[in-house]
Amino acid sequence: MGHPEAAEKFIANDERMHWHDKALWFVREKRDLAAHGIPEWEELRRVAKQIKTHVMSKLDVYLEEFEENAKEKGIHVHWAKDAKEHNEIVLKLLLNRGAKKLVKSKSMLTEECHLNPYLEENGIDVVDTDLGERIVQLREEAPSHIVLPAIHLKKEDVGTTFEHFLKTEKGNSDPTYLTRSARVHLRKKFLNADASLTGVNFGIAETGGIVVCTNEGNADLGASLAKLHIASMGIEKIIPKIKDLAVFTRLLSRSATGQPITSYTSHFHAPVEGGEMHIIIVDNGRSKILGSQDFKQSLNCIRCGACLNTCPIYRRSGGHSYGYTIPGPIGSTLGPSKDLSANKTLPFACTLCASCSNVCPIKIDLHHQLYKYRQHVVNAGLLATKKHTILKVAAWVMKHPSLLDFGGKIARKIVPIMPRSILYSSANIWGKKRELPKFPKNSFKELYKQHKEGKK
Ligand code: SF4
Repeated sequence: MGHPEAAEKFIANDERMHWHDKALWFVREKRDLAAHGIPEWEELRRVAKQIKTHVMSKLDVYLEEFEENAKEKGIHVHWAKDAKEHNEIVLKLLLNRGAKKLVKSKSMLTEECHLNPYLEENGIDVVDTDLGERIVQLREEAPSHIVLPAIHLKKEDVGTTFEHFLKTEKGNSDPTYLTRSARVHLRKKFLNADASLTGVNFGIAETGGIVVCTNEGNADLGASLAKLHIASMGIEKIIPKIKDLAVFTRLLSRSATGQPITSYTSHFHAPVEGGEMHIIIVDNGRSKILGSQDFKQSLNCIRCGACLNTCPIYRRSGGHSYGYTIPGPIGSTLGPSKDLSANKTLPFACTLCASCSNVCPIKIDLHHQLYKYRQHVVNAGLLATKKHTILKVAAWVMKHPSLLDFGGKIARKIVPIMPRSILYSSANIWGKKRELPKFPKNSFKELYKQHKEGKK
């Protein structure tokens, strides 16, 4: 199912669609306030882009520096070329140590690798400990947002989910009560875990350490209690020096939720006493993107989610309609980079309004990338025949001004008197959800001419 069909299902619930739209716009407004609160915002964006561009031009050097420094601190470093290798490394680390219970903090990379189902098939009990992630895990759903995984759900939905799985009071959907119940439930999981897995927000080449940002402290608790800490890191997460971190942490939380800083910005630079720390550096298609002039900027993403919150399509169609691990504008470029055919509708889930590029803290040219991917879809012959034909005819007519004038004249005469059943037949895709505007008597060209001749 492509994005339009999946989106149609989401918007069928009009009330939910408007509520989703409003909830995300609220986050977008918080971001605006936070961004406008510091005068050097644009300077920070400019520097962040410079740092990322520099890192990507020397990624091999920085990754090797990171590995060397991490090893010196007693951290084990593994390299995974794809999702399969990543998952196998995690499983092997767990099985070799007899670990059966894993607590996991938020990691979009492990979602991308489909780690949870793989581990569960192999007898590992995996518990997502981020509250939103735990809610969607219990419901057997994918996260619908990269920062707010359960944003598609109302508190009543969470109430019924907890009622079923955590045996909370029937009909009680008070957020404080539900959060406290989740806390009690998760605390037991933390205390009984054999191992923890975290994502990585930033890997610092200079120190060989990693930084994980959360608002719940769940990554810290997991990694501090269990003796085995595994961190999954995409190759693009590297920054050169510790001083660069300040640029990104200031941008990340403000862009994500409008906070000046995430509640926990945790540095992991060594295993816990008597324990082990392993970092898995994962490629999984990233070096292919790095080799593409048009799309390599997408690797600069720090997963703040701001482009999702501002996108008029994402807000109204929901994250699940994208059918790719990462939804929204950034997902619509990363998805086709991974598999153009499977994600061919995503570059069209865009109005080209450029709001995503305007809010992106790293100034990624998202709307240009989406526009470029549309051309790739057409060139690969993947555009739906109906759409392709309509666009070809439209392009041909527009290339012939006299034909366009003639067509316009006929349409202005015929369309207003056409029966509704014909005008809004299934051939009129545009008119499926909208009313055609009232046709004016004259075209703009005619009005302009009359005006110039002084008739109007
Ligand atoms: S593309 Fe930019 S705005 Fe979107 S998630 Fe990544 S960093 Fe944030």
